[in-house]
Amino acid sequence: MKQPLIDLKVQYREIESEINAAINNVLERADFIFGKDVGEFEGACAEYLGVKYSIGVASGTDALIIALEACGLKKGDEVITTPFTFIASAEAIHKAGGKAVFVDINDSDCNINCKLIKKAIKSKTKAILPVHLFGSPAGMDEIRALADKNGLFIVEDCAQSMGALYKGKKAGSIGRAGAFSFFPGKNLGAFGDGGLIATDDLKVMEEARVLRNHGASGRYSHRIPGYNSRLDTIQAAVLKVKLKYLDDWNEKRRAIAKKYDREIGKMGYGTLKPNGDSISSMNYYSFRTGGKRNELQGHLGKSGIASKVYYPLPLHLQEAFSALGYKKGDFPVTERISEEIISLPMYPELTDEQIENILKVIRSM
Ligand SMILES: *Cc1c(COP(=O)(O)O)cnc(C)c1O
Repeated sequence: MKQPLIDLKVQYREIESEINAAINNVLERADFIFGKDVGEFEGACAEYLGVKYSIGVASGTDALIIALEACGLKKGDEVITTPFTFIASAEAIHKAGGKAVFVDINDSDCNINCKLIKKAIKSKTKAILPVHLFGSPAGMDEIRALADKNGLFIVEDCAQSMGALYKGKKAGSIGRAGAFSFFPGKNLGAFGDGGLIATDDLKVMEEARVLRNHGASGRYSHRIPGYNSRLDTIQAAVLKVKLKYLDDWNEKRRAIAKKYDREIGKMGYGTLKPNGDSISSMNYYSFRTGGKRNELQGHLGKSGIASKVYYPLPLHLQEAFSALGYKKGDFPVTERISEEIISLPMYPELTDEQIENILKVIRSM
């Protein structure tokens, strides 16, 4: 039997009738763009996240771009972020007209090392974009203190951390804005692409709403050039159903991670730990293999167990950012982790038997 990294079909089967009914209602109403479920889902998200406003958009990447623009990022502004993340985190900075400035990470949680941020703040710095990697919130108190002291705004990349907590507050409710992704493999997954911006700031909300819909300030009057980036009604209907289950699913993910951690730690590998103030949403389960990654991946593969590397090539070494002038050796922790890290199957419906099987295979190497 093959063990996939993630199995979206099991989750669908559990809530199939509820989901199908929600989609059917959209088909009957045919309100595909800005329909009833969009506003309702946005309201439910704002309440869930503990923010005043939430704005649905077409993807997590768009959520980041629009959030940065809505917060006032201008051409040439520098944004401090991590080089150890999915390309979209830094890509969005550039698409919004800014320039990414990378800072190395902690090896404990793979998040931006807050102690190193201060040195990267220069006259052109406008914002900090922390990524709550794998679902584990970054050190937001330190980041917020630095941002406040230097007049910077914060956009949180919450693509992997819907439902994660920092000191009891939801990830995405701490910075000026939070950007979420509903890519199918994320904690709250749509049946396609989708994203959302969360904010308490009225101006940011208004600007984001204008930007996502062609810069429209009224019917056929356009204040600024914007985007076609709306969360469509079918996705909103699916997500509205799923949101009710999110906390339960995240709890199951954390319980699975706990089982993995205990056994994988015993085998002498390096498990990751959220900082003391954070509760992870555990989108991916990753650990450090030392120098044994290729061997372990091959071994898992032979037994039919999928594994994946998030992320094998840090962003400062990507061709897309070669113009920034970074080179190998600039971020030693990131570079070491990118060579050691591996991710195991992780989804709420993973059974004890499946977990045992995965652990047995790892143990047998
Ligand atoms: C998935 C992801 C994104 C982008 O989200 P999309 O919905 O795929 O555009 C951005 N940042 C991180 C960290 C992600 O994991």
